[in-house]
Amino acid sequence: MISFQQVDKHYGDFHVLKQIDLQINPGEVVVIIGPSGSGKSTLLRCINRLETISGGELTVNEVAVNDKKTDINKLRRNIGMVFQHFNLYPHKKVIDNITLAPMKVLGISKQEAEQTANYYLEKVGIADKAESYPSHLSGGQQQRVAIARGLAMKPQIMLFDEPTSALDPEMVGEVLDVMKALAHEGMTMVVVTHEMGFAREVADRVVFMDKGQILEVATPEEFFSSPREERARLFLHRVL
Ligand code: ADP
Ligand code: MG
Repeated sequence: MISFQQVDKHYGDFHVLKQIDLQINPGEVVVIIGPSGSGKSTLLRCINRLETISGGELTVNEVAVNDKKTDINKLRRNIGMVFQHFNLYPHKKVIDNITLAPMKVLGISKQEAEQTANYYLEKVGIADKAESYPSHLSGGQQQRVAIARGLAMKPQIMLFDEPTSALDPEMVGEVLDVMKALAHEGMTMVVVTHEMGFAREVADRVVFMDKGQILEVATPEEFFSSPREERARLFLHRVL
């Protein structure tokens, strides 16, 4: 579903992604871990072309992401993204945050968009917050709104970039639980996180990155019990 072949990316002179090879299958949950600055966010952002690659081949559903002929809006419609800092519209109610894109981009009616929004709000456990403004919600609730907003576009792929890193510890679990449920329903997910418990429990495969390279791809069982790479071992020592 997502395929990186020898992908390189530079920021000016800085070589941020080096010869990335990675294939992600439909329904798979891939967790990307690695030290800060290793290129995890950049890799994720290349998938929906928030960043452009400078070499190699990157395809989503066999469509070349960086081809000039590719309809970028169509590609993005199919890929939900959840960020560390929620990125909700502060002046819009929760329900309006969620219905905006489906109405504008998919062209569905307000009534249908609200029905869908309420369905996903229910799913993430905050049906009662539809009429609230984001600032009146806890961080965990805001992040669940952001997930519901992503899902309301009915994407095939969900990308998560450290979705729990900005949350108070007591709210991490409620967001991870929503992500877990999504994984069990068969959503294709690429998740950058420092939550090793989530990686261990939910990931089909763990990708370890350091300094712009993928150093190891393994099942969580393999990775957490006996990482092959010295740098992965050192990283695990620090975070576990
Ligand atoms: P991670 O998510 O693993 O912390 P990032 O992908 O955010 O890593 O960043 C990788 C490296 O690229 C870092 O050294 C960062 O400073 C650099 N970088 C990120 N975005 C930009 C940018 N827009 N311009 C220049 N350098 C960047
Ligand atoms: Mg990052």
